[in-house]
Amino acid sequence: MKLTLVVACALIDADNRVLIAQRPEGKQLAGLWEFPGGKLEPGERPEEALIRELREELGIVTQEGCLAPLTFASHAYESFHLLMPLYVCRRWEGTVTSNEGQTLKWVRANRLRDYPMPPADIPLIPPLVELLM
Ligand code: C5P
Repeated sequence: MKLTLVVACALIDADNRVLIAQRPEGKQLAGLWEFPGGKLEPGERPEEALIRELREELGIVTQEGCLAPLTFASHAYESFHLLMPLYVCRRWEGTVTSNEGQTLKWVRANRLRDYPMPPADIPLIPPLVELLM
């Protein structure tokens, strides 16, 4: 089965809230909420891919030293196997902006369950709750 590498980020604000983004209409899994991030391009390391995705999707700039790995999702979708490390980031430059039409929301870790997520993202929630609550 095809292996897809995606990297995701829990951005944490000064109030300890986490940023989630709603996948827009027309995309796979439209309407579901996810941690920002995206696919690795050939040759990229996860941190490089995440810095690029955060700049493209949210208009913010962060550094490798501000990305702390927290946990790892591994999920077998019907047509591919997704591997997705989750990083935590508390420091960035710029204002978080929806650059790709995604609805953005800052939520408390213990409310993340109120937002339907892709199956791969759901196991990422408990380690985040443990970290933040
Ligand atoms: O975001 P993108 O569509 O490029 O991601 C590729 C696939 O990885 C999605 O269709 C989805 O199945 C999966 N994905 C996920 N959780 C994420 C990001 C992507 O399950 N946070």
